[in-house]
Amino acid sequence: QPAPVAGRCALVTGASSGIGFATAERLAELGCRLVVAARRKDRLDALAAKLRDEHGASVHCIELDVCDVDAVMALPEALPADFADVSILVNNAGGALGTAKCTENDMNDMSTMIDANVKGLIACTRAFTPGMVARGEGHVINISSIAGIEWYGGGSVYCATKAAVNAFTYACRKDLHDTPCKITTVAPGFVNTEFSAVRFKGDAAKAEGVYKGMKYGGPLLAEDIADNIVYALTRPGRVQVCDMLVYPTSQA
Ligand code: NDP
Repeated sequence: QPAPVAGRCALVTGASSGIGFATAERLAELGCRLVVAARRKDRLDALAAKLRDEHGASVHCIELDVCDVDAVMALPEALPADFADVSILVNNAGGALGTAKCTENDMNDMSTMIDANVKGLIACTRAFTPGMVARGEGHVINISSIAGIEWYGGGSVYCATKAAVNAFTYACRKDLHDTPCKITTVAPGFVNTEFSAVRFKGDAAKAEGVYKGMKYGGPLLAEDIADNIVYALTRPGRVQVCDMLVYPTSQA
């Protein structure tokens, strides 16, 4: 029997588009109270309106740059009482910024990727796991990537950040094994979101080229990753899904 998530409070970072948006929708549909965070507050407000309208969900929006570690650390105290008991944290915010060989890596892009994908995720985990442990219920989902295990030229920094997410998550599992708090990595292959537009800095031709030649169904949809997240969250208490690799059928 799947364990229900209804009534639990879930924080999804990077909920303004793509995987985060779809995950927030799915969790609202299942009866979670939602805290949704990202930099584009207008997008979050639109998401919140949709979730209230379609699912009667309780939603709290937070304009947040996860690179701001102080803001992340202040978050648990700043949440309204109705959302103070976060027991599901989906560390999803981040992405790839630019493609470059290691001889040409842009140092600003490098800093942004490490700050968002690694430091932001570590800070969110640090901010919310003590409350989870204290309240006796918690699950952290860290969105990694196939890029964390299959390294490709032109993506050295992004690959390094996602490999760091994998290592961090495995080490956290050791730290948390004698608590009721679970931690899971979900590592997608190509997902059709705004990711490619960000990665190629708005070069639409390059962004579209990524999915060329994928015969059997094309790239994953954000909803596919949301489904896998829900699978991990709804296992019985004794079951901890540690690591999920999710490829599109046609991705080599
Ligand atoms: P999107 O670009 O659609 O979504 C990225 C989300 O992260 C947005 O909501 C964005 O919101 C948010 N975000 C980015 N930087 C920050 C920041 N500094 N602070 C707060 N929020 C931030 O792409 P995806 O949904 O595809 O990406 C989600 C995750 O999935 C990322 O971690 C990505 O690395 C990973 N992933 C994606 C794959 C793909 O093929 N799409 C494959 C493997 C992994 P805003 O700009 O409003 O702040």
